[in-house]
Amino acid sequence: MKLLIMGPPGVGKGTQAKILSKRLNIIHLSTGEILRSEIQMDTKIGKIAKTFIDHGNLVPDDIILDIILERISVKTPNKGYLFDGFPRTIPQATGFDKLLIEMGHKLNAAINLTADENELIKRIIDRGKSSGRSDEAIDIVKKRQEIYWKQTSPLINYYQKKNILKNINGIGQIEEITERILQVIC
Ligand code: ADP
Repeated sequence: MKLLIMGPPGVGKGTQAKILSKRLNIIHLSTGEILRSEIQMDTKIGKIAKTFIDHGNLVPDDIILDIILERISVKTPNKGYLFDGFPRTIPQATGFDKLLIEMGHKLNAAINLTADENELIKRIIDRGKSSGRSDEAIDIVKKRQEIYWKQTSPLINYYQKKNILKNINGIGQIEEITERILQVIC
């Protein structure tokens, strides 16, 4: 099973991605988590990424594609994988498509979690109180939402055209949402 999960900041992509990858026994790759660990280890990539993330901006496509290329070739993900937070722009999606073709892989589904924007802002602010993430202050959260609509939401149409888009209502109990997803992909 080869999947990606997308949706606006705060919709619960990361939470669902963790549960789904366990349930389906596939690799979970979160670009957000990878970047945060690079920042924590104070690597070259981490230093660059921090300047973008702390302002709510996206990290440049070439850096992200390099990260993916490295991870995907190292882990030879034959048994399946779930990308969480990637791709986030059209150039990332076309770069990913090229990579998939090279590997002879095909995505089974692009899961699009949806929710009301005000609900999302509320959730992220609450999460920021305990996550310690540097990008969860209210003005930065609003910026991330804006960037999502501008740069990431065109991917909905991109995957719709490929006939693999699965829209899932992201409001409800965590387990309930997991079941909704499993029902449409299995
Ligand atoms: P969320 O889903 O709440 O936005 P993530 O952990 O997925 O959180 O991402 C946090 C931040 O990391 C993003 O706001 C962005 O700055 C950066 N980031 C993560 N993935 C990507 C990506 N594919 N392209 C560019 N930037 C990314």
